[in-house]
Amino acid sequence: MKKISVLGVTGSIGQNTIDLIRRTPDDYKVVALTGGQNIARLAADAVDLQADIAVTAHAHLLDDLRTALEGSGVEAAAGETALIEAAARPADLVMSAIVGVAGLRPGLAALEQGATLALANKESLVAAAPILHATAQQNNARILPVDSEHSAIFQALAGEDPAAVSRVIITASGGAFRDWPLDQLAHATIDQASNHPNWNMGQRITIDSASMFNKALEVIEAREFFGFEPDQIEVLIHPESIVHALVGFNDGALMAHVGPPDMRHAIGYALNWPARQPLPVDKLDLAAIGQLTFRTPDIDRYPALRLAREVMQHRGLSGAVFNAAKERALDHFIAGHIGFCDMNMIVEEVLNRQSPDEGHKDVGITLDRVLQADHLARICADEVMREKASRT
Ligand code: NAD
Ligand code: MG
Repeated sequence: MKKISVLGVTGSIGQNTIDLIRRTPDDYKVVALTGGQNIARLAADAVDLQADIAVTAHAHLLDDLRTALEGSGVEAAAGETALIEAAARPADLVMSAIVGVAGLRPGLAALEQGATLALANKESLVAAAPILHATAQQNNARILPVDSEHSAIFQALAGEDPAAVSRVIITASGGAFRDWPLDQLAHATIDQASNHPNWNMGQRITIDSASMFNKALEVIEAREFFGFEPDQIEVLIHPESIVHALVGFNDGALMAHVGPPDMRHAIGYALNWPARQPLPVDKLDLAAIGQLTFRTPDIDRYPALRLAREVMQHRGLSGAVFNAAKERALDHFIAGHIGFCDMNMIVEEVLNRQSPDEGHKDVGITLDRVLQADHLARICADEVMREKASRT
């Protein structure tokens, strides 16, 4: 029986994880479940799966959670500290499925107690990879990829000599606007950006798919997860979302991971690793699909991909700055304060202003410095937005 905690259980990855746990409940002992505002969902899952503790990130919702859990025997807690403490409870596997850099400290707490961290929360790796890797190493803990492309790479690398890898190709659906005329992108609405052609995901990552900031984060994630050189990492638009990634070797072979766009595959692979177990994903009918197409992304349409290259070159704190600026720009887009293309402008401007030279070394990167860089980048993003508003 595996002791498991799910951070961000009420979200899209969290619910897919719960779906898998429910199918073989005898394989799991659920330790901690954490969520945000959806107290009903959090409490229902905690009671149903007999979790030890349920935690909401919002301190003011503690009474609501207590009421929802009354008589169930599930402990209730609330607030950021409680969430980190829940992640620190001994478990074999912790699913890191909080959205944003908010997942960083809980993820580190899970690694500190020696758990395997199934990492969907790519933002924490982009912002603080050296800290995550060092924490894992010090505590004999492991990080497994959950992002579909990185799970695909991980699977293609199994049994291979990493030194024989020559290239990696990450595919991208192209998101909601892949076929839109370029001059209309600036007028794209939140609803339009929130409508992904192939994947059913949380709103933030769906909009990040339309702007390609998600792919930008994933390119950095691939570099930080596997240690590939930036020029080894390629991105291809693949509208069918069937091939998730390809790994190229020095003999010219390309190993592709092929599967339906269903996150339960990548989640299940991490839950069952190193074994494989049957998963409730559709059997692909390649003859019915007929054609798989690939094309090079247009950098004019997706400046985020260019910015990812800059971040990989600078390293240091620039990943934290990039991610925080992106999170803040996305907040403003969702709130209706800025247009779709303004997100690119804000992130680029924040990177220009906030990436200090001395931060371009990995030596001396501490959690405090990452959180400080994150904080300042958000303030800077707000400034850039205000300056833009005063010009128009
Ligand atoms: P979501 O928005 O559906 O769910 C996010 C979860 O995090 C919710 O449980 C929410 O309550 C919680 N949360 C939000 N803000 C929080 C905060 N400040 N503190 C604590 N908890 C907070 O998001 P999602 O689509 O499930 O994505 C989760 C993570 O997985 C993200 O990092 C995303 O990039 C990554 N990911 C998602 C998918 C997908 O298919 N959805 C695929 C690959 C990677
Ligand atoms: Mg992905």
